[in-house]
Amino acid sequence: METIAFYYSPKFLEHHPGRGHPEESDRLQAVLARLPELPLTRIEPEPVPRSQLLAVHSEAHLAGLEAVHARGGGALDPDTAMSAGSWPAALLAAGAAAQAVELVLSHAGPRRAFCAVRPPGHHATRERAMGFCLLNNVAVAAARALTLGLSRVAIVDFDVHHGNGTQEIFYEEGRVLYVSTHQYPYYPGTGAARETGLGAGAGKTLNLPLPAGAADAAYREVLANALLPALEAFAPELLLLSAGFDAHEADPLGGLALTTSMFGELTRALVGVAERYAAGAVVSCLEGGYDRPALGACVAAHLAALAGAG
Ligand SMILES: [Zn+2]
Repeated sequence: METIAFYYSPKFLEHHPGRGHPEESDRLQAVLARLPELPLTRIEPEPVPRSQLLAVHSEAHLAGLEAVHARGGGALDPDTAMSAGSWPAALLAAGAAAQAVELVLSHAGPRRAFCAVRPPGHHATRERAMGFCLLNNVAVAAARALTLGLSRVAIVDFDVHHGNGTQEIFYEEGRVLYVSTHQYPYYPGTGAARETGLGAGAGKTLNLPLPAGAADAAYREVLANALLPALEAFAPELLLLSAGFDAHEADPLGGLALTTSMFGELTRALVGVAERYAAGAVVSCLEGGYDRPALGACVAAHLAALAGAG
């Protein structure tokens, strides 16, 4: 069984987008309450260095978030807000993703990492916070891998929402394959199959939209016929996951109908790709998932599969 590096900080609980907001801190408490009996090495992340943020975000975006932080927080858009603890949490969340990449590529420790982080990241664009996301954690992780010399990094995003920020950041980048399964049409509006990348990134964005109501059978078909073949063809040196669990049938925001066991099955298939091409290196970053019991159960199934126990 593989040991999993489990990145977590209690400061993630201090990001408060607001009472009654779906992305509140009890999400992570639900995850922690359901951690399975697995070999987990708990690691507290360090804040991400600014230079690593500037690989994927503009100076103006960072300055804007810092200005909101300096006045104690505030709304960024109708869905997205900062409290006093949000900026420190966001820096630690992005730091966790980047440091997990350093660890799994070091060949000196675990080859799997799970970043139990919030705020989530995949909607954050180079210039803008949106959709509960301030900094794009998985994009910071991918950029870190490129800096460390990799030339084929795959990001698989299985959140129910399309990761518009991640797609945008790497849309013209040939070294990063971005593959997303998501409900479509749906928030944030991007993620059509015709969006496939530009320039050096042409063909390196793969959107696999699913209609509302799609369940395990439809998902399994997309996995076997499109997602896995694309990964096999790309032969990634590192697999990054934008691990959202809001495609679960119980999720109050998403309209797909996946079961808990589908997340385990998906993860096992992805680990198989990492074993064949990437020396088993997988870094998974928590994104969405808003039904607390389902989130706890799905993360447990995901971790078991990452460890090779599920
Ligand atoms: Zn989502």
